[in-house]
Amino acid sequence: MRKTIKSPATIEGIGLHKGKPARVSFLPVPGPTGYRFISPLFKEPLPARLDKVSGTVRGTNISDGKNTICTVEHLLSAAAGLGIDDLDIEITGEEPPAADGSALPFATALLKAGIQEKPEQQRGALELKGLLEMAKGETRYLARPAQDGVFFRLTYDYPHSLVGTQVIEFTLTPEEYLVRVAPARTFGFSHEIEALKAAGLALGGSLENAIVINEKEILAKGGLRFTDEFARHKLLDLIGDLALAGLPLKNIYIEAVRPGHAGNVNFAKLLSERALNHD
Ligand SMILES: [Zn+2]
Repeated sequence: MRKTIKSPATIEGIGLHKGKPARVSFLPVPGPTGYRFISPLFKEPLPARLDKVSGTVRGTNISDGKNTICTVEHLLSAAAGLGIDDLDIEITGEEPPAADGSALPFATALLKAGIQEKPEQQRGALELKGLLEMAKGETRYLARPAQDGVFFRLTYDYPHSLVGTQVIEFTLTPEEYLVRVAPARTFGFSHEIEALKAAGLALGGSLENAIVINEKEILAKGGLRFTDEFARHKLLDLIGDLALAGLPLKNIYIEAVRPGHAGNVNFAKLLSERALNHD
């Protein structure tokens, strides 16, 4: 059965890229409408779906051609990770609050709002019948059918003495997502951050909402939350980008090596095409 939330919940802060005040309110929805962004400025709701993706540089953006919302992946990751199917997200401005750089504040707000089952509404699922592989450059994805669950294996590596190779293996349940994935924060390398700011991005970025890695050290507020926090954050992003497929994953094993937003979105497209073809 499909799920939404019981009552509204609001989060405020500043947007990561534009650095402007940002607010989102999660609202319960009666119908099977998936994830949608709404605003008094929009003529109609903007569905958070693959066919609305308009950009994948340093975050996943969606657009209806007129209105654009940047960096939707952390918030969607929280909703999908907790097994919520239908959610309206009222937004002011162009991006959700950066929060602490993780999905935990969104997940906590959603849990506080309470999760509501809709017994009369059937829930579809993204299920594969065969092997699916995709590769581009050093990025690789693989998916295959699995029994009784949704399993991930993700590899992140970066040629830096403090990063190296991190591998996370994870079985998706709302409880595990909340503890092992949602708290992992976004990160950036100091040499990239200067270039991003010069390009008008990451303007709201600070140690309040990101981990910064420079040549000599990792700057993380309160220290790292996990020794493999970078791989876990990449998994958080992957779950958020796959949520754009509009269907929950079912009985599937997914492997990703050096994933990024562009690859995630293309992989989600391939996955939904193949899964539908086999239905
Ligand atoms: Zn992220």
